[in-house]
Amino acid sequence: MFENLSERLERSFKILKGQGKITEINVAETLKEVRRALLDADVNYKTAKEFTETVKEKALGQDVLNAVKPEQMMVKIVHDELATLMGGSAAEFNIKGNPAIILMSGLQGSGKTTFSGKLANMLKSKRGKNPLLVAGDVYRPAAIEQLKVLGEQIGVSVYAEEDNKNPVKIAQNAIQYARQHGKDLIIIDTAGRLAIDEKMMNEIESIKKAVNPQEILFVVDSMTGQDAVNTAKEFNQRLDFNGVVLTKLDGDTRGGAALSIRSVVDKPIKFVGTGEKLDAIDVFHPERMADRILG
Ligand code: GDP
Repeated sequence: MFENLSERLERSFKILKGQGKITEINVAETLKEVRRALLDADVNYKTAKEFTETVKEKALGQDVLNAVKPEQMMVKIVHDELATLMGGSAAEFNIKGNPAIILMSGLQGSGKTTFSGKLANMLKSKRGKNPLLVAGDVYRPAAIEQLKVLGEQIGVSVYAEEDNKNPVKIAQNAIQYARQHGKDLIIIDTAGRLAIDEKMMNEIESIKKAVNPQEILFVVDSMTGQDAVNTAKEFNQRLDFNGVVLTKLDGDTRGGAALSIRSVVDKPIKFVGTGEKLDAIDVFHPERMADRILG
């Protein structure tokens, strides 16, 4: 993950190696390379520009730290700013409510259904929850089947109504079912499409209105870079979601989505998916991600 970005950033810091002090010139040279590295990692243009401007101000404004070597100082500033860019500290995840309702959104293939299973599994085993998975994708029988298989693997009930084509009704019925069966948390998987379309957006908006979820999570494939960011923007305009789930971080994703989403959409990344297995889920920690990027 992000290997190329890490390598490129480290190489850019080498410009400062052996330099006695920070100067306008050596900072400018270094940050030119940092910015190129970010753009090649598919970071949003404006985000990369603002990022390097902030780093420049911090680097040139440091006199207290002049005792430290310029290279070390730059690594520290870039590290801290990367963490800030990704949200600073881990975001809260609200599962209060009985049942607490989590609504999943995102395009088809983003990893929504898999993540619903992972999240149910995590909240069951680590938070002692008794979840119910809800099959809200009424268009693809395969999607319902996939959720049932996942549910079986993790020992979590799945609520589905094969003959009902109204996902709003299904979601409402699922809440009743949860109340009757002592389920304290429900995760509603919804239909995605290959691209954004009006019908899908209207449908998920209606589900949101009908069930008033504690958390709306937007799931996106990190491999899709700036497309991920643009899709996030459109979903956010319609849904005002609470957080992002970045999937497929185990692939050779360049990092652009992880680094740009927060600054473009102003919503935190809450979880990441790191594989196809059901335990391949992590809470997103900006600091730790910055540690990983700068090795
Ligand atoms: P949905 O259409 O959004 O519900 O997407 P699915 O959950 O069906 O996932 C689409 C594909 O991506 C499946 O083959 C999943 O196994 C795979 N997938 C989901 N999350 C991850 C992940 O974090 N890492 C990897 N490598 N594959 C994933």
